[in-house]
Amino acid sequence: MDALIRALREALGHAAVLTGEGIPVAHERDWSVVPAQRPLALLRPASTAEVASVLRLAHEAGVAVVPQGGLTGLVGGATPRADALALSLARMSAIEEIDATAATITAQAGATLQAVQDAATAAGLLFGVDLAPRGSCQIGGLISTNAGGTGVIQYGSMRAQVLGLEVVLADGTLLSMLRPMLKNNTGYDLAHAFIGAEGTLGVVTRAILRLHPKPRTRLTALVALPDYAAATQLLQTLRSALPGSIAAFELMWDDFLAAASRATAQALPFAGAPPLAALVEFSGPDASSLQAGIEAPLAALLEAGKVLDIVLAQSDTQAAKLWRLRESVGEILMRFTPLNFDISLPLAAIGTFVAACRAQLQAHWPGCEALFFGHLGDGNLHIIIDVTGLPDAGEAIEDAIYALVAQERGSISAEHGIGLLKKHYLALSRSPAELAAMRAIKRALDPRGLMNPGKVLDVD
Ligand SMILES: Cc1cc2nc3c(=O)[nH]c(=O)nc-3n(C[C@H](O)[C@H](O)[C@H](O)COP(=O)(O)OP(=O)(O)OC[C@H]3O[C@@H](n4cnc5c(N)ncnc54)[C@H](O)[C@@H]3O)c2cc1C
Repeated sequence: MDALIRALREALGHAAVLTGEGIPVAHERDWSVVPAQRPLALLRPASTAEVASVLRLAHEAGVAVVPQGGLTGLVGGATPRADALALSLARMSAIEEIDATAATITAQAGATLQAVQDAATAAGLLFGVDLAPRGSCQIGGLISTNAGGTGVIQYGSMRAQVLGLEVVLADGTLLSMLRPMLKNNTGYDLAHAFIGAEGTLGVVTRAILRLHPKPRTRLTALVALPDYAAATQLLQTLRSALPGSIAAFELMWDDFLAAASRATAQALPFAGAPPLAALVEFSGPDASSLQAGIEAPLAALLEAGKVLDIVLAQSDTQAAKLWRLRESVGEILMRFTPLNFDISLPLAAIGTFVAACRAQLQAHWPGCEALFFGHLGDGNLHIIIDVTGLPDAGEAIEDAIYALVAQERGSISAEHGIGLLKKHYLALSRSPAELAAMRAIKRALDPRGLMNPGKVLDVD
């Protein structure tokens, strides 16, 4: 091991290879409950060539590598192992190019989401992915988890933003797929194998990403609803009233609303506490046509009792206040010992699924706090359960909830990935044939099993 560390210091420089007490504790875990672990060493390369050197040296020595982005992952994917090197992309954070005509941005893997969003805005354009930890999560991490967030309903997930990718394979081979063309049917689309691979097939070092025209106006509304059926009716009504204009449709159940209100010290803007509320954002060319488009359908739903109340933000500050409620997840997670669920289900099944989960939790773990919310427009439900007073119940709760997901033929991970935490349940969402094909790809690209081993699926 000493020889490997010496070789790594020669390749990267002394300051870029941290060991022992020199490794910041922040690099010992991500945001999940997977226990912290100090790696053999923390490597901080500054270029693709340095990443390639690291992987080549580690491969020759037979030592595993765990890629780390902003460490905001929720499934333990970037949590290191004691017998592996942690590879941080943080120093590779440059925005290399913006092409406003082609509407593309080229960024290194360590650029934060916020930096990419700001660069796009400065060029009069918009980056389509947005999520709460935007100041910390990195392009490489977002690509490797195929992150979703609040913009999927309009722009798709991270996969839909990637036009070109540069990846270093486990043995140090550079795979440059940095082609910005929209159309390129020249055999297997290799880049897509690395999107959502959670660092198990290679290290993402650079990407060309798609940008979008910036909408001139955004309109934000918080809509109080009597029940889940009313939420799907609202989504359907608004979709047909303003096709293509719904930029976000986030649903929050009463338990989440109460926790968000506490976490933000912000009262809900309704007379009472509704059973559910939808945070809806519209985008379009001008505010008056958006307002005119939603007025009549919302009035009709109010009249029919399918909507209880509506708060329409009158300024950016008011819109930000409404978004604070939805984005308080980070603060809520800090108060919890959380079990995080990130499920996708057929839209029509979500209401009864939530009722069934609540009934199971109440029957077996009465009093445990469970919060329901999600990106309803994408059929993506999140549940956060606080297991602080239930140290041994985690696995039984997961078994119960994932069994309900399997009954609905849903996915056990809509956007957070599998990492370590959901590996055990992967077979509920993937067939034996799919798992065998995934293992074959892993073996082909990483024959020695050194890229983020133990994450997503076991190969042997
Ligand atoms: C409060 C909060 C809210 C969140 N909301 C959302 C949400 O709305 N939607 C959503 O999708 N996610 C959400 N997440 C989860 C998380 O932010 C995303 O998974 C994000 O994409 C992780 O990016 P990261 O840079 O922090 O990656 P990390 O956590 O560092 O790593 C994630 C995975 O990617 C791998 N990886 C990282 N960088 C690279 C690289 N350069 N090459 C190869 N592999 C790499 C790691 O090994 C790991 O397996 C949320 C998390 C928090 C804490």
